[in-house]
Amino acid sequence: MSSAINIAIDGPSGVGKSTIADRVAESLHMVHLDTGAMYRCVAYYLVSHQIDLSDSQALDQALDSIHISFQGKQVFLNDVDVSKEIRTNEISMFTSKVATNPSVRKKMVTLQQEVAKDKGYILDGRDICTVVLPDAEVKIYMDASAKARAERRYKEYISQGIQADYETIYQDIVARDYQDSHREISPLVQAKDAIRIDTSNLTIDEVVKEVLELVRKA
Ligand code: C5P
Repeated sequence: MSSAINIAIDGPSGVGKSTIADRVAESLHMVHLDTGAMYRCVAYYLVSHQIDLSDSQALDQALDSIHISFQGKQVFLNDVDVSKEIRTNEISMFTSKVATNPSVRKKMVTLQQEVAKDKGYILDGRDICTVVLPDAEVKIYMDASAKARAERRYKEYISQGIQADYETIYQDIVARDYQDSHREISPLVQAKDAIRIDTSNLTIDEVVKEVLELVRKA
């Protein structure tokens, strides 16, 4: 049954969307598409090729040259594994800026809709319930306090061997929340028909259970 549906999950940075989506996908034999990783790849490509976001011609060329693929949790940008490089604080902040650009969003949304058209996908991001998959069978908005999210992200970085400073992460999360929810195009908002799950005081297992219950009901 689950392969005949799509699940859309939105929410702010570090709320655990990706971890939960991975677990739910595994349990239901669905495929998880981490849309944030796609925006991160674009940001990383622009930085490494020194392309100015305001140079629309160069940006369009860049968007045509970018090929993003996934192998399990690994993210490939033009066949190079960039899984670690796209997760630094600097790239996180720049991604949030890159994601305000209409050409970038148009390209990403089209790619994501193309992937999910045959159903059986879990997409997580900021505009999945509102823009990418407004007709998804299950729509969820995950939320948690900025403090809880910063603590989680700090631990995640450390476990991946990425150097991190808690205070910087907290400030970046607050800044990214602001930028993502105040941008002009597709700002982060809870879709009217999305179900809100506050993960601040829930374990991963508890959130997974709640999502699976919502899927069962759908
Ligand atoms: O989810 P993650 O933190 O990896 O996303 C990185 C950034 O990409 C977000 O801060 C947001 O600016 C952008 N993004 C977006 N729309 C999505 C997914 C991510 O604008 N669907």
